[in-house]
Amino acid sequence: MAHSHAAPGDLTRNQGLVLGTLTGSSGPLSAYDILDKLRADGLRAPLQVYRALDKLVERGLAHRLESLNAFVACADEHCHRKGLIAFAICSDCGRVNEFADAVIEERLGNWAGDQGFKVERTTMEIRGKCAQCAVVA
Ligand SMILES: [Zn+2]
Ligand SMILES: [Zn+2]
Repeated sequence: MAHSHAAPGDLTRNQGLVLGTLTGSSGPLSAYDILDKLRADGLRAPLQVYRALDKLVERGLAHRLESLNAFVACADEHCHRKGLIAFAICSDCGRVNEFADAVIEERLGNWAGDQGFKVERTTMEIRGKCAQCAVVA
């Protein structure tokens, strides 16, 4: 049942439009990229896009890539239940690969436990070249 969360019925119209734009994109999009693509659908103000993005991120349907200040649709319907989200970002083609790793998560969990640090959210961003771009070089 992959992608069964792609279009939950309880999204607002703007949230649905923004999520659809992210899902249809091959790479991360900034809020302004999204706004540009949705002008024909009647979106005019950046705030409309930001509000929709906030809700989508909060629900785990989309993620914010801090280093790019851009957003991607969640590629894993279960990820928002996990503590760790990792992204491998290709600096050549912009492809983003979302993954989770139980070992890293466990190690970070142990560290946090030892330190008494209460983790709210962990996002890893790995920069480099994807397999396709690496062979071309
Ligand atoms: Zn995700
Ligand atoms: Zn690449």
